[in-house]
Order: sequence, then structure tokens, then C-alpha cells
Amino acid sequence: MSTPISAEPAPLLPAVTQFLQRQHGLWIDGQPVPARATLATLNPATGQILCHVSAGDAADIDTAVAAAQRAQPRWAALLPAARERLLHRFADLMERDREALAQLESLDNGKPLRVAYNVETQVAIGQMRYYAGWPTKLTGETYAVSSPGFHVYSRREPVGVCAAITPWNYSLVMATQKIGPALAAGNTLVLKPAEQTPLTALWLGELALEAGIPAGVLNVVTGLGQTAGAALSQHPGVAKIAFTGSTEVGRAIQRAAATHLKRVSLELGGKSPLILFDDTGDLDAAAQAALWAIFANSGQNCVAGSRLFLQAGIHDAVVDRLAALAGQLTVGPGLEAASDLGPLISASQLDRVLGFIAEGSRAGGDLIVGGHRLGGRLSQGYFVEPTIFAGLGDESAVASQEIFGPVLSVFRFKDEEEVLARANALPYGLAAGVWTQNLGRAHRMAAQLKAGVVWVNTYDWFDPAVPFGGMGESGLGRELGRPVMEAYTELKSVWVKIE
Ligand code: ADP
Repeated sequence: MSTPISAEPAPLLPAVTQFLQRQHGLWIDGQPVPARATLATLNPATGQILCHVSAGDAADIDTAVAAAQRAQPRWAALLPAARERLLHRFADLMERDREALAQLESLDNGKPLRVAYNVETQVAIGQMRYYAGWPTKLTGETYAVSSPGFHVYSRREPVGVCAAITPWNYSLVMATQKIGPALAAGNTLVLKPAEQTPLTALWLGELALEAGIPAGVLNVVTGLGQTAGAALSQHPGVAKIAFTGSTEVGRAIQRAAATHLKRVSLELGGKSPLILFDDTGDLDAAAQAALWAIFANSGQNCVAGSRLFLQAGIHDAVVDRLAALAGQLTVGPGLEAASDLGPLISASQLDRVLGFIAEGSRAGGDLIVGGHRLGGRLSQGYFVEPTIFAGLGDESAVASQEIFGPVLSVFRFKDEEEVLARANALPYGLAAGVWTQNLGRAHRMAAQLKAGVVWVNTYDWFDPAVPFGGMGESGLGRELGRPVMEAYTELKSVWVKIE
């Protein structure tokens, strides 16, 4: 483990410095609206206040939903090609501001700047481009009914006002994943970003207006989950809510949404298995993949491959490689070029992760690397070493609960049947990985793993065209690809008597 002392932080763009100095209102109906309260967002690398934003309450949510309701009919009435042009222009402006967005996200979330630039902004822009193309591709169907004399067809119509509640781990991507399909389908949106990382969402709100997207189509209400988030999930004027976050809050949102029978999609937690068979082949490549499967974004990743199952024949060789690779990772502030891993998002998340690590040691886990908070010049931030445990029981807290931190559990297994049962034993079902050279086994495993996405001989790939979501307690519904367009539209059947 090395913590560079002399790495130079990247200089902030003047636009970013100015943005951080502003008093941010809520972004409603194309203008900043001050709220009755404010909240501070911290820099997790230093624990210092980065910026103040408005903290919206239930009355602010009413105002935002009313603005979205007013804007929706006109937005839906635009010709599909006109909506496409505006959404492409929005993506163009994201591209123009890509470096600023990456700097803001790196500061607010803590992730390395190069990850914020090369991964987060790149994926977010790619998603907006993908959805920008959808308005002209939405179609209904005709039906071969068995009653004589009818022409029956379906129409896809917008659902109305949508709500998005997003987490802090990939703030931009989580936002565009919901803004894109909602707006492409002719809906308007109220976005409530996570209180820990509200900044890039506010930037996006302003960009939407600059792109020519009418005021009120994209509204951003910053604030706390228990106030702004809860008010949004109960609001009678919201037709659909899309949530990404913890399973516990997902349950609360579904309960709140039930009052008015809102449509709900939930992207929740996971404890994803990554399984390496003896015939994995290239152990170096597999160890690299396993390393980033867990440590990308400091483990704060819903698809983190946090349970690594190694077949007995390669177990020791992979553990040795992983330990060596993890030991070479540099943990440090996101703006320093040398940093591979940034801090955790908050003091409470730091406590939670350290609590799990202590529990793993108490449960008899063999700490292969890591296990500590980083001190010295990093002591004011929320930095934890990449940590690997072996020898834990499958039911132990570290091995069975979502930690959302850089903590990996490694297990040894004998055969396919055993590993499938163990991999599928938890209530989660978000993602899974399988490494093998045996084609039949790859497909057998892909078919039988309880997961919304299975990666074979790779891990953690996404594309806007490929649906994503979880089974079991990992979620409800799918985002991305064609299915999400169905979630953001109503299907109407029309019967026409023609004879
Ligand atoms: P995490 O555990 O990753 O912080 P949460 O599920 O707590 O994730 O938060 C994800 C999002 O849900 C955030 O925007 C947060 O403000 C919001 N949120 C938290 N509690 C509630 C709630 N009771 N109702 C609606 N939204 C909430």
C-alpha cells in the first residue's frame, strides 16, 4: 500500500470553482428556487464542506411536481424528431462540460478524476445519446384478434410526471439512466439526487434549459431522503418512480408508492458472486478482473463482486495474485493522478465498513490484505485499505451482507453444483461472474445463477442497449435497453370496428 505524498492535485476549472461558490437553489421550472433550509455537501477526501445546496421539503416537492405537470403536455406534443434534437443537444452540452462534470463528481463523491472522466461521464453521455434516439423509435403493435370486423392496435403514451431518486455512488450515470428514458418517452421528471452528491444533478438541470428543453421538463430538488425523497415517493401527482439505492429504502419507497399505485422500479443492493473455475485459463487476467470487480469505486458499487469463489485447483494461485495486486493499489484523494481508489463517501459509511472488518476478524476471518483506515495525511478523509478476507463462513456478516466498501470475501469450492448452491443462497440477485473455458459450463452457469446480469470471462460491463436490474431483493423492473422504454410508457389498446 502506498500513499503518495507529493502527487499534485488537478487544478480546478474556473467554472467549477464558481459553481462551488454559488448559493444553489432547487432547480424548478427552469430557475433556481431557494428552499427554507440548506444542507452542506462534504468533500470525502478531507471531511471539509465543499458546497451548500438547498434542502427541499414537501412543499418544494409540490412546487416541482406542479411545474412538471404544467410542462408535460407540451413536451409530449413535440414531434418526436424535435424531442430527439433537444436530447442530443443536451448530450452535446454534457460533452462540452465533461471535464467540469468529472471534477465536480470527483470532489463530491471522492472517486479518482480519471474514473469520473473516463467511466462516469463517458457512460452518462453515452446513455443520453442512446435515449436521445428513442423518441422516433417508439412503436405500438397491431393484434390478430379472433373477433371478426376489428382493427386493433396499441399506442405507447407517456405516463406523465416521473420521479427519480438516485444514490451517491454513480450520481451522473444514475441520473441519466432515468432522465434519458423519462424524457425520451415524453414524460417530465423531478430528480432527487442523493444528499451526499447533489452537485452534478444541479449542473444537469441548467444544461437541460441551455439545450432548449423547456422549463419544467427536468426539475432537480436537492434535499434529504426522509423529507424530499419521502414526499416525492408519496406524491399523488407522480405517476412513476424510479429508485436506485439500498434495499431498505427501496421497501419504504414501494410502500409509499402503493398509496396512489405509482409504477415503481427499484435497483437495489447486491452481494454478487464471482466464480473462477479451475479451467479459467489466464489467471492473471482473471485476478485483475476480480480485483476491479470488488475495488472499483472503492467497493461502493451495487454490482461489486464481493464474494469470490475459487475452485480448489486455482485457489492459492489466485489469492496470491490478488494479494499482490491489491497491495499495489494507491488509495488517495480523487483529484490526485496517482489515486486508484478514493475515499468512502462519508464518516458513517467509514464506520460501517470498519465495523464489518472488525466483525470479520472476530468471526475468524483470515485477513489477507488491508483491514485498516488510512492515517497520516489522509486521516481527515474517509479512506480504507482494500481488504481481503479468506476463511469466513458463508453465513458470516462480512460474507453475506452488502458492505458497499472495499471488502472482499474469498471462498474455496469443489464443483459446479456446490458453488451454484452457495452463490444462489442469498436473497439478493443482482449480478454474477463466471470464468471458465468450458462453453457448456459457461451457459449452464449463466442459466442457473440467480442474477439479473451474468458476465462470462469478464465483469462489470454495461451498455445502454442492454437491460440491467435485479432479481429477488435486488430490485424490481429493468433499466436500460428497450424494457425501460416500456416502463416509462403506458400501453393503450385501441379497438376500431371496421365492418
Ligand atoms: P445509500 O444507503 O446508498 O445511501 P439510500 O437508499 O439511503 O442509499 O439512498 C439512496 C437515495 O434514496 C438517496 O437519494 C436518499 O436521499 C434517498 N432516500 C433515503 N431515504 C429515503 C426515503 N425514506 N424515502 C425516499 N427516498 C429516500
